[in-house]
Amino acid sequence: MEEIKRHLKILKELGFDEIFLEGEFMNQEDILKEKLNQLKQIETEIKQCTKCDLYKNRIQPVLGEGNPNAVLMFVGEAPGADEDKQGRPFVGRAGKLLTKLIEQAGHKREEFYIANVNKCRPPGNRTPTLEEQEACFPFLERQIEIINPKVLCLLGAAAARAFLGRNVAITKERGQKIIWKDRILILTYHPAYVLRNPNAEPTLFEDIKMAIETAYEN
Ligand code: SF4
Repeated sequence: MEEIKRHLKILKELGFDEIFLEGEFMNQEDILKEKLNQLKQIETEIKQCTKCDLYKNRIQPVLGEGNPNAVLMFVGEAPGADEDKQGRPFVGRAGKLLTKLIEQAGHKREEFYIANVNKCRPPGNRTPTLEEQEACFPFLERQIEIINPKVLCLLGAAAARAFLGRNVAITKERGQKIIWKDRILILTYHPAYVLRNPNAEPTLFEDIKMAIETAYEN
């Protein structure tokens, strides 16, 4: 995949804006439109989804938002009360901290894509069970395939568990780069944990900065 991306970058630098694919031209605009259509399709499906019990208490599911061509995706655990109300990811206090740290690293939230493993809010913001994560993970996997980020920054132990299929001691494993299906996972704290433990903010910032630098490096 990296090799294909490198070739596409070289072609772009040489002035090619269109690629001939199986008999049809696809330019950047068509690719973006196709990605947005596919994301919309997932949104339609999660609105009707009853694959786990979390649908029973939700106001609305939260797909995710951001740049469909992002090189970096942030993935959290599940929507909270604010997200459930607004239908957007990371818009409460934890989301504001995430946005602040992205900006502190010299970037904008809109450059990246932000989502959660579970699309519906667990009652009382409890951690989703393994079964609830497994039920919802295929939606996230499809989002990842569509957006095709180089790096996934996993916010908190629950998100890391969904990817790695095992319990994760986030304090020990954060800040490492782990290869997962041709992509790089970077594990870090959930911003909600940092709100409760402000001493961890510099560490969360370092991990976010590393995730951004890794995503943009050639
Ligand atoms: S959390 Fe995911 S799997 Fe469960 S009901 Fe919501 S969309 Fe479906």
